[in-house]
Amino acid sequence: MNQFIKGIIDSLVELLYPNKCISCDKVLLKIEKEMGFCKDCAKGIRLVGPNYCMTCGAPVSSSEEYCDGCRKSTHSFNQSKAIFRYNGDMKNAMYRFKYANRRCYGKVFAYHAVKNYGRWIEEKGFDAIIPVPMYGPKQKKRGYNQAEVFAKSLSEVTGIPVATGIIRRNKDTVAMKQLNRLKRKKNLLKAFTMSKNDVQFRKVLIVDDIYTTGSTLDEVAKVLKDGGVREVYGLCICIGQL
Ligand SMILES: [Zn+2]
Ligand SMILES: [Zn+2]
Repeated sequence: MNQFIKGIIDSLVELLYPNKCISCDKVLLKIEKEMGFCKDCAKGIRLVGPNYCMTCGAPVSSSEEYCDGCRKSTHSFNQSKAIFRYNGDMKNAMYRFKYANRRCYGKVFAYHAVKNYGRWIEEKGFDAIIPVPMYGPKQKKRGYNQAEVFAKSLSEVTGIPVATGIIRRNKDTVAMKQLNRLKRKKNLLKAFTMSKNDVQFRKVLIVDDIYTTGSTLDEVAKVLKDGGVREVYGLCICIGQL
């Protein structure tokens, strides 16, 4: 681990961190605190790495460079990474993060993002972190956008500014869970617009909670690139199958 990455990890642990396991909600022992989950849940929580698709970040076997999906079709974003596999233990964590106001989980996810992809983030030299926006009225109802919470935590430890208000979500898209790849694409058609044209960003990092087919990331990347951003990357907390 190089000094840059070690430095930010050290500063992170000092910040206010959740004191309960993100998966089972049990109080954490001191030695478990850094990870954000307890010893029992650690067995079930799985990182994506070490072998992942060079485009979308999905887990692949050690002999593959790309996943099936990326071999067959292209994406609008340049490259994306994901930290965890979206399995049972992570589903509990993501549920609380999204619906139970556990905004402090953002710090745990930022810790693992830097631990796994710190060097990549450093090397890319992003101008800004852009959270996938939520539809305005929906965010008002929930009180926060979990992608933005993650973006802010990541910004705290990397120093890369968060840019909100650049992309707007124009409609409340149907819950994507029930839709297949094609329907997802249709569902997202014209869902996002760039609300400012004066952006000077050349290279940005979009962050989101869960990557499934990549259609959300693709739509946001397309809008950003149409608006003049040259390179668009993604970083998601979890990656899961349809
Ligand atoms: Zn636990
Ligand atoms: Zn892929």
